[in-house]
Amino acid sequence: TIRADGADELKQQDVFIAVKTSGKFHQTRLALLLETWISRTKEHTFIFTDTEDVDLSSEGFNMVVTGCQSDHSQQALSCKMAAEYDGFMASDKRWFCHVDDDNYVNAEALRSLLSTFPQDGDVYVGRASLDRPITAHEQLEGNATREVSFWFATGGAGFCLSRRLAERMVPWARGARFQQTSASIRLPDDCTVGFIVEKRLGVSMVHCPLFHSHLENLLLVSQRSVSRQVTLSYGMFENKMNSIQVKGSFSKEDDPSRFRSVHCILYPLTSWCP
Ligand code: UDP
Ligand code: MN
Repeated sequence: TIRADGADELKQQDVFIAVKTSGKFHQTRLALLLETWISRTKEHTFIFTDTEDVDLSSEGFNMVVTGCQSDHSQQALSCKMAAEYDGFMASDKRWFCHVDDDNYVNAEALRSLLSTFPQDGDVYVGRASLDRPITAHEQLEGNATREVSFWFATGGAGFCLSRRLAERMVPWARGARFQQTSASIRLPDDCTVGFIVEKRLGVSMVHCPLFHSHLENLLLVSQRSVSRQVTLSYGMFENKMNSIQVKGSFSKEDDPSRFRSVHCILYPLTSWCP
C-alpha cells in the first residue's frame, strides 16, 4: 500500500520473525506458539531449531534445521542466532526480529511499533535486561584485552533490527563471523548483537518497555495494556511461575503461560476460543 505522503506503509508480512527453539521444546513450548500467535503469522515466521520435525514442516510452518548443537552453551546459542541473521539476510523482509520459544508475539503491536521508525534508518530496538550497560573484555591481538561497555537487548524479550542496520552488521555478523565476534567478547548471542551495533557501528539501542522476558515481574503488565504489548513471556522465576495476569477464557491450570487467554483477547473469533 502506498500512503498519501508517498511512504510505503509497513505490513506485518514485512517483518521476518525468527523463533529460536530446540528439538526438546517442540512439544512443550513450540506447539503452544503454533496454536496461538504463529497460526496468524505463519508466512513470515521462521523457526530455527536443531532437530527435524516432519509433522511441523508438513503443516506448512517454515522450519529451519540448523546444524547447531542442541544445548544451552554459548556456542550453540550463537550458532542459532547466526542462522537467524543469515536467514533474514537471504530474505526480502524489511525488519528482522528475534524471539525465544517462550515469547508471545503480538504481530500488530510489533508492526505498529516498527512503523514509527524511519524505515531506511539504523534501528535496534528491544528491552535491556540490566539497568546499566554490560561490560565486556574484548580480546585483541596477542594477549591484550580492552574493556568495553554497551547496552544490549535481552534475547528472552525479543528485539528487532532494521534492514539497513542488519546490512551494516555484515562484517561482524555474517556466516562464521558472528560466532567469532561472540567468542572475542566471551558473551552470549544477544550481547554480541548489542556489541556489534553499539561498539562496531556506533548506533544506540532504542529502549522499549513493550518487550517482555520472564526475568522481569510479569504481574506488572496490566490486562488493559495487553493489546499494546509487543512481546510477552512466561517461565519460572525464584521457583514460582512468572506469567502475566489476565482474566481470560482459561484457568491458570489449563493455561499457565496465559498465552491462550491473551490470544482469545486479541483474536476472539479464533475457533477454539470460548
Ligand atoms: N535453547 C536452545 N537449546 C537449549 C536450551 C535453550 O536452543 O539447549 C533456546 C530455547 O529454545 C529458548 C532460548 O534458548 O528459545 C532460551 O532458553 P530458556 O528459555 O530455556 O532459558 P533462559 O535463558 O530464558 O533461562
Ligand atoms: Mn526463557
